[in-house]
Amino acid sequence: MNEPAERLQQLHERIRRAALAAGRDPATIGLVAVSKTHPPAALAALAAAGQRRFGENYLQEALEKIEALADSALEWHFIGPVQSNKTRAIAGRFHWLHSLDRLRIARRLSEQRPAWLPPLQVCLQVNISGEATKSGVPPEALPELARQVASLPRLRLRGLMALPAPESDPQRQRAPFARLRGALESLNRQGFDLDTLSMGTSADLEAAIAEGATLVRIGTALFGPRS
Ligand SMILES: *Cc1c(COP(=O)(O)O)cnc(C)c1O
Repeated sequence: MNEPAERLQQLHERIRRAALAAGRDPATIGLVAVSKTHPPAALAALAAAGQRRFGENYLQEALEKIEALADSALEWHFIGPVQSNKTRAIAGRFHWLHSLDRLRIARRLSEQRPAWLPPLQVCLQVNISGEATKSGVPPEALPELARQVASLPRLRLRGLMALPAPESDPQRQRAPFARLRGALESLNRQGFDLDTLSMGTSADLEAAIAEGATLVRIGTALFGPRS
C-alpha cells in the first residue's frame, strides 16, 4: 500500500478507537484533511485513497489546489483567518468556512455567495482558551453573533469551531473542548439547531472526540510535518 493511503487508514483506525472509547459511533465523526503547505500531488494521493474533505488556511494557495484538483469532486473547507478582501473568493469557491468570527465578514460572504451554489456552510470560531492573540469570538459575544449569522440568507450556520492553545496533558486537553460543547448545547437550548463541533487536530483528536467532535481537522498525522 502507498504511504498516504496507509496514513489515512491508520488515522481512520485512530478515530475509530477514540470514538468507541467514548461510546460514540465512528460514523458520526468526519475527517477534514488539513493540507496547507502541501502540494496538489499530496492531496491527489489522499483523494485517490478516498478522502473527500480538505481544509486550507491560505487563500491563494488554496485556490491553486482547487483549480488543480477540479476533476476530483472534493469538498473544500476554509479554516484560516478571513480578511475582508478575501470574502468573494471564499464565497465562490468553498463549501465550508470554519473560522467565521465577525459579523462584517459574515454579511459580505452572504452577499457574495453565488446564487447557483447552495448556502455556504459555516462554523463560528470561538476563542475558547481566552488568549488575547487568538482569533475567534469571545464566548460571551457568541449568542448575539450566532443570531445575526443565522439570519443571513446565503449562509447556513452549522456549529462551532475552536483551536485551543497547545496542551500536552491528555486529561487537560479536554477542558476547552468541553467548553465548546457546552457553548453549542447552550445555543441549541436557545432555539438553534446546530450539529457541528469542529475541533481536534493531530495532537488532541482523542480528547476532542471524547468531548463530542463531529469534524476533526488533521494535518500532520496525514501529510507529515510542515516545512
Ligand atoms: C494547521 C491546522 C490544523 C491541523 O493541525 P495538525 O496539528 O497539523 O493536525 C487544524 N486546524 C487549524 C485551524 C489549522 O490551522
